[in-house]
Amino acid sequence: MSQTTATPQEIEHAIRNIPDFPKPGIQFKDITPVLADARLFSGAIDLLTERFKPGSVDAVVGIDARGFIFAAAAAVKLRAGFVPVRKKGKLPHQTIEQDYALEYGSATVAMHVDALKPGARVVLIDDLLATGGTSAAAAALVKKLGANILEIGFLIELKFLNGREKLKGWPVRSIIAY
Ligand code: AMP
Repeated sequence: MSQTTATPQEIEHAIRNIPDFPKPGIQFKDITPVLADARLFSGAIDLLTERFKPGSVDAVVGIDARGFIFAAAAAVKLRAGFVPVRKKGKLPHQTIEQDYALEYGSATVAMHVDALKPGARVVLIDDLLATGGTSAAAAALVKKLGANILEIGFLIELKFLNGREKLKGWPVRSIIAY
């Protein structure tokens, strides 16, 4: 491990809790103080990638939008490509799409149809696992393209929302759990 590595506890201390954002009853986990601290940011990437050797992963798939930050840095560290899963309507080329349920209504995520080769070794990363709807939809897109998910990684997991239930069958890992 490099000298810059941080512990999960140090990263947790830097996460800022914002009550009632973006709406009443939600406690938003603000990860920007982690990103702004060079040691904590690189430590978070070390922790998210520690199970994999550089060259053993073909692509890191990141989820719109905060997931991009961690997934792109992880991809560079693992010498892997980076693939974005975006909200519907944002990607310019032909896409595959997956709907998922929200508390009220539904949402759709999309990925470029040629973003992953069949059999590609993929790590999926987002900043936070809440109900699991977003990451389960992203995982379904990866599966549709025939790629293999080695791990679904999160910096933060809100355990009381049981998001792992929606990710059954995939190896799920989080660095910090509430
Ligand atoms: P879910 O689909 O319920 O697992 O929600 C996960 C997505 O919503 C992630 O991309 C998170 O960035 C975001 N999210 C959900 N809840 C929170 C929270 N309390 N604080 C920060 N981001 C959240």
